[in-house]
Amino acid sequence: MPISDFERYPLTFGPSPVHPLDNLTRHLGGAQLWAKREDCNSGLAFGGNKTRKLEYIVPDILASGADTLVSIGGYQSNHTRQVAAVAAKLGLQARLVQEKWVDWDDPGNDRVGNILLSRIMGADVRLDDAGFDIGIRSSWQTALDEVAAAGGVPYPIPAGASEHELGGLGFANWAFEVAEQEKQLGVFFDTIVVCTVTGSTHAGMIAGFAALSEIDPRPRRVLGIDASATLTKTTDQVGRIARHTAELIKLGRDLRDDEITVLEGWAGDLYGIPVESTVEAIKLSARTEGMIIDPVYEGKSMAGLIDLVGSGEIGKDSTVLYAHLGGQPALNAYSQIF
Ligand SMILES: *Cc1c(COP(=O)(O)O)cnc(C)c1O
Repeated sequence: MPISDFERYPLTFGPSPVHPLDNLTRHLGGAQLWAKREDCNSGLAFGGNKTRKLEYIVPDILASGADTLVSIGGYQSNHTRQVAAVAAKLGLQARLVQEKWVDWDDPGNDRVGNILLSRIMGADVRLDDAGFDIGIRSSWQTALDEVAAAGGVPYPIPAGASEHELGGLGFANWAFEVAEQEKQLGVFFDTIVVCTVTGSTHAGMIAGFAALSEIDPRPRRVLGIDASATLTKTTDQVGRIARHTAELIKLGRDLRDDEITVLEGWAGDLYGIPVESTVEAIKLSARTEGMIIDPVYEGKSMAGLIDLVGSGEIGKDSTVLYAHLGGQPALNAYSQIF
């Protein structure tokens, strides 16, 4: 069925703001740059992209009769922080597996930022030594079993809500929201730049913009910038979730391979570890626009945007929408880089 027919439990304040990045545009001297701000869009614990995905999952949570949301991420996961907020809002418990996805030597890494917020919101936060993996984890399965064994009714939400059946819908709808905002603003974004790791944000956008392209044939690229440093896994996951989401919203055709673009070059060697281009991008965004981005995700996608504009891969005549997906609380565990 079309995206508008899927049930959505509103957690955001409405469409996220879209605004031009005039100073950054002038500084780079190329394409016209705009941002759409998922970081400024929710009353739940600083928001971010996971809130929008969870809006389409909440109806299923409520129908399931669950009393405990069980999810997983790194110590500084934005996703588990947003799950904790949704649980608080719905009057449910949250059990969070926080794995050592990032070997980052900061005394605050398991205490400040996202994990602090989850604890404040009452989540049952459990640390686990396992390293980074975007797939389904045994620690998460164990947490589900333990909640059930203790008499609870668990509801499983995988990493980033990406492998969830409905995980791509939030950002399929984002594409339709962009199309409405384009009409109001009198612009057309021929290029979308988005950070991608567990994949359903980028995948949802691909499905949504594919559906829109059936109505409006103007060419548009949705460029995913890898921040996982496990490119093959992320690209496979984006493709799989995009195809699944396209089927859910009845696109009526298969996605073409050229609609699924994940670019590498800005993730560094490891998820969660900023490299020089990440830090430069964070400073540039802050110092030209007062726009704060994080060292795990958006700093890497912004570094990609800067280079793609600089190299002319994104041409001067382009109008670009940078998807700001949130994530700033993690900055608190990265003070040493500044
Ligand atoms: C989770 C997250 C991403 C990546 O989104 P995926 O759907 O996991 O690919 C990007 N930026 C921020 C701030 C995030 O929290």
